Amino acid sequence: MSNLYLYNTLSRSKELFIPENRDNVRLYVCGPTVYDFPHVGNARPLIVFDVLFRLLKEIYGANKVTYVRNITDVDDKIIESSKKNNISIEELTTKVTKNFHDDCHYLNCLEPTIEPKATQHIKEMIELTKRLIKREFAYIENSHVYFEVSKFSSYGKLSNKKISELIAGARVEVTKEKKSPADFVLWKPSDTNEPGWDSPWGRGRPGWHLECSAMSEKYLGKEFDIHAGGLDLIFPHHENEIAQSVCANDTKKLANFWMHNGYVTVNKEKMSKSLNNFITINQLKKTYDGQVIRLAMLSSNYKQPFDWNDKILMDSYKTLNKWYEFYSDTSCPLEDNIAKWLRDDLNTPQYISEVHKLYDESIKGSKDAGRQLSSACKLLGLFDKDFNSWNKNKITKSLTNLEIENLIKERNLARNNKNFKKSDEIRDLLNDKGVVIEDSQNKTTWKYK
Ligand SMILES: [Zn+2]
Repeated sequence: MSNLYLYNTLSRSKELFIPENRDNVRLYVCGPTVYDFPHVGNARPLIVFDVLFRLLKEIYGANKVTYVRNITDVDDKIIESSKKNNISIEELTTKVTKNFHDDCHYLNCLEPTIEPKATQHIKEMIELTKRLIKREFAYIENSHVYFEVSKFSSYGKLSNKKISELIAGARVEVTKEKKSPADFVLWKPSDTNEPGWDSPWGRGRPGWHLECSAMSEKYLGKEFDIHAGGLDLIFPHHENEIAQSVCANDTKKLANFWMHNGYVTVNKEKMSKSLNNFITINQLKKTYDGQVIRLAMLSSNYKQPFDWNDKILMDSYKTLNKWYEFYSDTSCPLEDNIAKWLRDDLNTPQYISEVHKLYDESIKGSKDAGRQLSSACKLLGLFDKDFNSWNKNKITKSLTNLEIENLIKERNLARNNKNFKKSDEIRDLLNDKGVVIEDSQNKTTWKYK
């Protein structure tokens, strides 16, 4: 058995991965808060940790890995969004969860072993909070329960910061009830028109961090192998999860390994809802096959920022077109000189460059290289469609922004020449690709449906 090395945020180094139990390798990834359609930045952890899940299954056995990814279906953002859109919380969370599952399917992510919903684990969260109060790590104030950060000496170890720096760096909610601004909420009261559950501290709801501590404990135990998520979760979310779990259970750690993927940027700026520079995964479905997004995102190291642009998507599309010539229904064991790159902290860029070499050998006639190529793609979660389905898909290939703009120019020229048949054809073609055009006085604008 060859070794697997993973970068551990906790030690800030690449370490040899040894599971606590080889028959049950345990992985927890923070899932979505279901209040709005996920954007491309949210696709990255789904893809990256799906590759990790596939690799762990490959190494330890298909049934020897437990992958838990939660759904946060109670949160202030959900309450706000339901008010803004004037729909019930249940309707909103059901709709967004379904859409999230469609996105995962589109990106060819394997289903996690367990996908617990926060609202179905309130009992466990109340239990955990009770333990923290009993052990004097938490206090009750005005129907709120807060975790007292100063009681936990290892607080800040994951993010490698002192408490004072953390408070200054990440706007921590200050309320008069808290003993310190760094203290965070475990339980808070709900208004009558907000979702709430009975608890020893009155009708209320859990704080976000508490959810993951309660659900990971239920399904993976008090200590497990890998906890993962996006870089922005290190503080305060993961730091608070550690504090809650370790203090409630009197353990030394929550997870042995902490893994974090880098941001997705657009023109080097972080893609986020608050910056309004995001593209939803839903928009992409109309233009790109999910494999294109997958290959594009895996072309850079998962810890580095990934800059979203049309060129990288087009390059990935062209690469897949080439590789598909060697699609095979059957799989063969991967040679070590290729597989070793994934075991080196998911070094997908190097792994992909080995697949390019396999392609070069394949077109020279090596059948063996062709079979290796196909198996290597499948381990990345590519080749989910067979050759014929991909080819059918190729015909409705996506358009780049430049292609869209050129088609619009062509259409406007046809209109000026009174060639309405042609201009209608181009409009229909764009419509088929999910592009809607709008004519104003002297300008044509476009957007995705
Ligand atoms: Zn979490």
